[in-house]
Formats: sequence, structure tokens, C-alpha cells
Amino acid sequence: MNVSADLRQLPSVDRILNAPAVQALMPFYGRRLVVAAIRRTLDAIRDEVRAGSESPTPEEVVARVTAYLQEHLAPTLKPVINATGVIIHTNLGRAPLSAAARAAMEAVARGYSNLEYDLPTGRRGHRTVHVEQLLCELTGAEAALVVNNNAGAVLLALTVMAQGRGVLISRGQLIEIGGGFRIPEVMAQSGARLVEVGTTNRTHRRDYERALAEGADIALILHAHSSNFRIVGFTAEVGLPELVEIGRTYGVPVMADLGSGALLDTVAFGLAREPMVQESVAAGAAVVCFSGDKLLGGPQAGIIVGRAEFVDPMKRHPLARALRADKLCLAALQATIMHYLRDEATEQIPIWRMIAAPVEELDRRARRWRRALRRAGIRADVVDGRSTVGGGSLPEETLPTRLLALSIPAPDRVAAALRRHDPPVVARIEADRLVLDPRTVLPEEEPALLRALMEVLG
Ligand SMILES: *Cc1c(COP(=O)(O)O)cnc(C)c1O
Repeated sequence: MNVSADLRQLPSVDRILNAPAVQALMPFYGRRLVVAAIRRTLDAIRDEVRAGSESPTPEEVVARVTAYLQEHLAPTLKPVINATGVIIHTNLGRAPLSAAARAAMEAVARGYSNLEYDLPTGRRGHRTVHVEQLLCELTGAEAALVVNNNAGAVLLALTVMAQGRGVLISRGQLIEIGGGFRIPEVMAQSGARLVEVGTTNRTHRRDYERALAEGADIALILHAHSSNFRIVGFTAEVGLPELVEIGRTYGVPVMADLGSGALLDTVAFGLAREPMVQESVAAGAAVVCFSGDKLLGGPQAGIIVGRAEFVDPMKRHPLARALRADKLCLAALQATIMHYLRDEATEQIPIWRMIAAPVEELDRRARRWRRALRRAGIRADVVDGRSTVGGGSLPEETLPTRLLALSIPAPDRVAAALRRHDPPVVARIEADRLVLDPRTVLPEEEPALLRALMEVLG
């Protein structure tokens, strides 16, 4: 058959559209995307036929349309089961939210709210008031402000406190964290002038004092927590309380960028000490900023707490408008903070429940998974392993866990198949075995996880 006859033989858009398999896609994708997929698939087939390929059967066209929709026009953001054991997994959306935080988001999402409305007076209100008092109560600070994320919080604070002036920072704290956030670059964006003191591994009190005594118009001393790395060996840094003391002598405020912003003592969970927000406020930092979705365990947010004389001007700065938090974030943050104020953080906040999970409980869960797989004829072991906190918090620190381990040929291919599964499962490969850590798998995800394993391995 010649090419033009082959082209004429191709089914029409309508014919493909009416195929039952394509009609079944309609409720989810809607007519517009389905028709677009059919047109693009037929266009591609026409090009192939002109280039000498045989024209496909209508069934083959339908299969290609379905594949096209799934590959190119499906919504891409979706829930994933995290079996990696990395608790605050930045690539997997950092902190899962508590039931109360999710309910609070749903409640303000469903209808209207008093986001910027003062109910007693019926006048315009401010969106920041909703969490400010709770944050002050929780951290002991005088004032608080919530913005879109901590990178924004640092940018805003530097802009307001130090634009056109100098900011002192130790060379050991010129950090880069994930996603291209680098202290020197944020500093440049804010219009502040970076004044480096000390060396990469050792910075002393006298380094700060010398720079301050030289009097080069220093507006601020910045203390940045080296969240995601550790320097070991011959090292020295000046702690926050001492920096505050130095600052006081020269009349210069100190800002602490804590990154994670722990509100619970990580030592109580067998981890290294992570600086706590309350401590930093008590140590006399003028401003303390931290993330909402790292060790706080809430929504993506940047939280600034500190003295009113510094925080209040930030609220009025135009950049605060550009960085403002939305109502869903504020609702979830408020509910998350209440968990701390009710002393129920380790029971209610998912990341703290994961951090606090005893190894016996993880062992029981891993064994339960192993039994379920064995009933399906799949062999697995339960072995010792380590979970990590992640999210640029507590580098090198691990928690003992129990892993489900599958000794299978080509574990990387199975891991890839699990990632393609719906819902996707992200596992780890360790010593040529595929391992899954129950610590980061939510209990309600277990049935789906086991189904995925059985489908991929069965
Ligand atoms: C994570 C982190 C940030 C950025 O916080 P985001 O909420 O991710 O924007 C800033 N500074 C430090 C020290 C951090 O660890």
C-alpha cells in the first residue's frame, strides 16, 4: 500500500475519542486533554507513516494515546511513600503535617476566614497576628513574623537591618544549603556588605572585636548555624551568648539563622545537640530565624522572632509583602505550634513521632511486613540499620532502626519499578540489597507499600 492510502487508513479523532478505553480516561483527564493527546498522537503517527512506517491499528493508536496522556499530560505532583528512613527529606516535601494541621488548612480553604479582618471592630486586620502571639509565647520572644520560607526570612532581616551597611560573619559560617541558598549571595541580594572574620576552621572573640573596633559601619553580627555539615579537628567558633556579649559592648545586634529551629531538645532522642529557638532568644539574639518545615514539623514557612524594635520594621517593609505567607500556611503553622504549647508534639507531629519511634516498634513493623510478603511467596529479612534526620539538620547523626531487606538480583531495577508504581515508593539500596525503613512510612501507608512490593516482586 502506498503512503497516502496508509494515511487515509488512520482512524479519525472522533473514532479514537469514542473508543471505550479512551472514554474511560475522560472522568480524570477531561475532554480537552484527551483530545489534545489524540491530535498529537495522530500527528506523530502521520509523520512516521510518511517516513515509511506501516499505519498502526486503531487499538495501537488507543494504546499510544493512553501512554501519551500518562507521560505528558498527567498532573505530576503526587503523594509518595518515603521508605528511605530520611525523616525530613527535602526532595520528598520535607515535613508531613499533623492531622490537626491538615484539618486547619481544610477549614480555611473551604470558605472565607478572618485572614486580614479584625472581627471585634469589623476593620482591616493583619494576617501575621494569627500566629504571632503563639510564637512569642512558645519562644519567649517579644515579636514574631512569618514569611514564605527561611531563605526569605534571612533576606528580609538582612535587608531591613543592614542594607548599605556591614554584617560580620565568621568565615566558618559562609554556608551553602540545598537549593542554591548561599549566605554571601543572600547578603549581596539584601544590599548588605559582607565582612568576614576569622578563618574557615577557627574564629575567635578577638576576630569579631578587631572588626568592630575598626568601626567599619557594622549594622549586624550574623550567626549562621552550619546545618548540613560538620567541621572536625582543630576548630573554634564563638557561641551565640558570647557573640551577644561582644555585640552589646559595641552596640551591635546579633541575628541567629538557626535553619532547623528545634523547639524540642534533640539530645533527649539520642541525637546531637541542635540549637533551640527558645535558647537563642534567651541568649539575647536580637533576631532569630528558622524554617517551618524542618524540625518544627509544620508547613513551609520562614519564622522570624526577636525584639520588637527589629521585627516590627520588617513587617512594614515592601519585601515582607512579596514574601508573605498564605492562609493555608498560617492555618497549618498555628495548629502545629499548638501541639508544642499543649505538650503533645512527640505524639502529634509526624516528624517527631518518627524521631521518637522506639526501635522495638520499628522492629515489629518490619517483621509484620516480612510476614505479609512471605505469605505472598516473597523472601525478605529484617536487619539493623540507621535512619537519618535529613533536611540539612544534624549531619552525620543517625537513629538505630530495623530495615526490611530484600536480597534480590538487580535491586536498582526493582527500586526503579517501585518509583514508577502508583503510589510511588522510594527505597534505598544498601550493600546490594533493597532496604525499606519503617520509620518514615506512615502507618496508614503500609497496605499500599506492601501492595507495591507484591506487584513489583510477585
Ligand atoms: C534550611 C536553611 C535555610 C533556608 O530555609 P528554607 O526554609 O529552606 O528556605 C537557611 N539557613 C539555614 C542555616 C538553613 O539550614
